[in-house]
Amino acid sequence: MYYIFLLIRLIAFIWISRDTVRRGKSTLSCVLWSVGALVIPIIAVPLWIVVRPEDKKPKNGGEIHHLRQCPDCGVYVDEDVSECPNCHSQKLERE
Ligand SMILES: [Zn+2]
Repeated sequence: MYYIFLLIRLIAFIWISRDTVRRGKSTLSCVLWSVGALVIPIIAVPLWIVVRPEDKKPKNGGEIHHLRQCPDCGVYVDEDVSECPNCHSQKLERE
């Protein structure tokens, strides 16, 4: 039984670390998410699925699309999002 949990943690860790990088998260958040998935996969994985940005295919040679930081909770969100997916702050309106 222990090995199953270990396997779940490992899969969650690998998947989240790859997914955070692919979706253009900063190095720090990639590491934090990966550690979170390893320690508490049952929380980190569903949470990541909820807050992760849209998987946008890189146009013209892999340019990372722009991210903005939520002024309330510090989470990075897509620039075309007006409400923070993490804390539901409305302060993300374009200036
Ligand atoms: Zn927020």
